[in-house]
Amino acid sequence: MEILAGGATDTGRVRSTNEDAFLVDAELGLFAVADGMGGHAAGEVASHLALETLHAHVSAASERPAEEVLAEGIRAASTAIVEHARADRSKSQMGTTVTALLVRGDRATLGHVGDSRLYRVRWGEVDKLTQDHTAAAELVRAGAISEADAPAHPWAHILSRVVGREGPLDVEVATIALAPGDRFLLCSDGFSDSLSDPRWLADLEPTAPDVAARLLVARAVELDGRDNATAVVVVVGAAESRRERRSSWKRLRTLVSEALDELLEE
Ligand code: CA
Repeated sequence: MEILAGGATDTGRVRSTNEDAFLVDAELGLFAVADGMGGHAAGEVASHLALETLHAHVSAASERPAEEVLAEGIRAASTAIVEHARADRSKSQMGTTVTALLVRGDRATLGHVGDSRLYRVRWGEVDKLTQDHTAAAELVRAGAISEADAPAHPWAHILSRVVGREGPLDVEVATIALAPGDRFLLCSDGFSDSLSDPRWLADLEPTAPDVAARLLVARAVELDGRDNATAVVVVVGAAESRRERRSSWKRLRTLVSEALDELLEE
């Protein structure tokens, strides 16, 4: 199946650095976001190092089962970060989330650690395909707090699994069958905290993925902007028609002019 994809990231309106990173390799069928942490520029190093390591691993292992390849690639990323941190004490606290999607033929496999997310839009329905690996989400799964209480819980942003810690790493993996027209969104928490209602993604059909990613990130920053925001949009199926592309640009122009009007009014 033909795959189209695009990504966008924004530092936001408060932070001075962008610790998020994203990866789009449509030829390989690999898409990912990583949200780094650790201070002293360590978060940026961790997220980029993780995606470079994952990309190299998947590129070199094209014949092997996708779930194995992604789990091993994310574990290799973790080891690379641990080794980098050992060599540079100022980066001892660095780590990252990784959420990746590997598309092969008519199947897609996800590999995931942390609180970045993968959503799928199919026939207008939006489904979250990953679990959040946060302490608060673990409490929800244990039945100790309700799902509605999780976002405001003090542990909402404490990761229960991190890429870049010593010891065994449990990578969440799953494989799903693709249907023509499926859209996927990979995003960092700076994005999902801001655009928490997943319907916005369905609203953007049939916008071209690169335009959709930029629109969504611009919207997320406009609504919140306290954290770095990143989105990768992957579309399965036929190429976008010329007419659809024109309408995508029209939407982008409208959004930009609305944002400008708002700024001028302030
Ligand atoms: Ca973040």
